[in-house]
Amino acid sequence: MYRKNCDHCNRPSFSSSEMGEWLCPVCGHDLTNYPFFNAVSLEKVSISSRWKKNLYKNPPE
Ligand SMILES: [Zn+2]
Repeated sequence: MYRKNCDHCNRPSFSSSEMGEWLCPVCGHDLTNYPFFNAVSLEKVSISSRWKKNLYKNPPE
């Protein structure tokens, strides 16, 4: 479970997926590019390894 903090309404939102768009359920602000936090420990979560996997599949020219 992931958590992101909305800086528009200052409310946390939660999701089980790191993929796709992430809109604040309260105000609808786009949180897709905001950092992920662990919903339990509130530690910042790095998902860079998953993005690297995608890069290897589609290497930039
Ligand atoms: Zn919001």
